[in-house]
Amino acid sequence: MKFGGTSVGTPLRMKDVARLVTNRGRNIIVLSAMSGTTNTLVEISDYLYKKNVDGAKEIVNQLEVKYQGVINELFSTEEAKENARREVKAIFNYIRSLSKDIFTLFEEKEILAQGELLSTALMNLYLHEQGVNSALIPALDFMRTDKNNEPDPQYIRARLTALLEKHDDAQLYITQGFICRNAYGEVDNLQRGGSDYTASLIGAAVGAEEIEIWTDIDGMHNNDPRFVEGTTPVAELHFEEAAELAYFGAKILHPTCVLPAKLNNIPVRLLNTMQPEAKGTLIYNCSPNHTIKAIAAKDNITAIKIKSGRMLLAYGFLRKVFEIFESYQTSIDMITTSEVGVSVTIDNERNLHHILDDLKKFGTVTVDNDMAIICIVGDLEWHNCGFETKVLNALGDIPIRMISYGGSNYNISILVKQSDKVKALNLLQQNLFNS
Ligand code: ASP
Ligand code: MG
Repeated sequence: MKFGGTSVGTPLRMKDVARLVTNRGRNIIVLSAMSGTTNTLVEISDYLYKKNVDGAKEIVNQLEVKYQGVINELFSTEEAKENARREVKAIFNYIRSLSKDIFTLFEEKEILAQGELLSTALMNLYLHEQGVNSALIPALDFMRTDKNNEPDPQYIRARLTALLEKHDDAQLYITQGFICRNAYGEVDNLQRGGSDYTASLIGAAVGAEEIEIWTDIDGMHNNDPRFVEGTTPVAELHFEEAAELAYFGAKILHPTCVLPAKLNNIPVRLLNTMQPEAKGTLIYNCSPNHTIKAIAAKDNITAIKIKSGRMLLAYGFLRKVFEIFESYQTSIDMITTSEVGVSVTIDNERNLHHILDDLKKFGTVTVDNDMAIICIVGDLEWHNCGFETKVLNALGDIPIRMISYGGSNYNISILVKQSDKVKALNLLQQNLFNS
């Protein structure tokens, strides 16, 4: 069970989490830092990189005051408060000891690790105060990356299994998300937002029945609630469908984060700490067939069309086009081709001028700005007839710039003007889900 930063963001929320995790069996609980903490630790590091040690220390002090407040609200007995103060003090003194003129990536990673060490120490002490026999399993003792900065599953499994056995009298286990050691034994992390990755790696290592990711929304919605009324949580999604949606900023897990779960065939359930009875969204390897599950959209898309007689019956034309995007580190998201032209979309205009200059060597180039990609996700394997028709009929007279289908079995992407996005999302909602 993984709880994100907002789920442990206040003493009250922490108490909710404690209630949720007790009496649910001997689970492993993965915690993020309290929301805002990792950002503050990044800020402290930033001051230290700029050699403003006083500036850094001021923020360290402010953060410590915040944690003192948390302790006062979280614990009831003076004894528990004292224990917590001692542990928190030690962590802040350690941060101060790293706050020096000479500041490198090494110190920064140590500092970034303290957020998860704080949240888990507090939760473990709180559970003890509540009479729960929880064991704190330090992530730095088992979570490890190799020389390529990839998690090392064999090492993780062996060490974690040993640690769990050592504490086999515990009612439940608490550990830190995000933090790890690298191949050289130094403190490191799995990148921002990496606690989901931790949960997935742990689930895979212990062969969990299920991995629960607890956040502050009731699962993945079937359309964007900011623009469409009456959206509902999607009960079940295939891992591949979830991967298609990840690009659209839908509150969904990053595909690499859930890869260990997917490969080990362990279902991942998205649940809401604020509404624990809600069913949430189950992501696994065999979700219901023959249905469309969700619609998502992304703004600020630029479409580029390259037309050239030289493309007809030629080989290597697309490679040349793609190389231009590669040389400017710009990723292409959607592609459609005809015999004499190709259209692509990008969502990063930083190097657009250079890209266009280079593309003009190969053909006539047209650019459409302020576009939006609408993505329809579901079981869209090509033998399932009728879904493409339904989608296009729903869009009625909305001008469509590009249509992409067949890249995977799980999506249809449509490019429209950004100003038509809300209308398109609503028409699709009515025609695909409400009728
Ligand atoms: N605390 C880390 C971050 O804010 C990791 C996480 O929350 O997943 O990025
Ligand atoms: Mg987070």
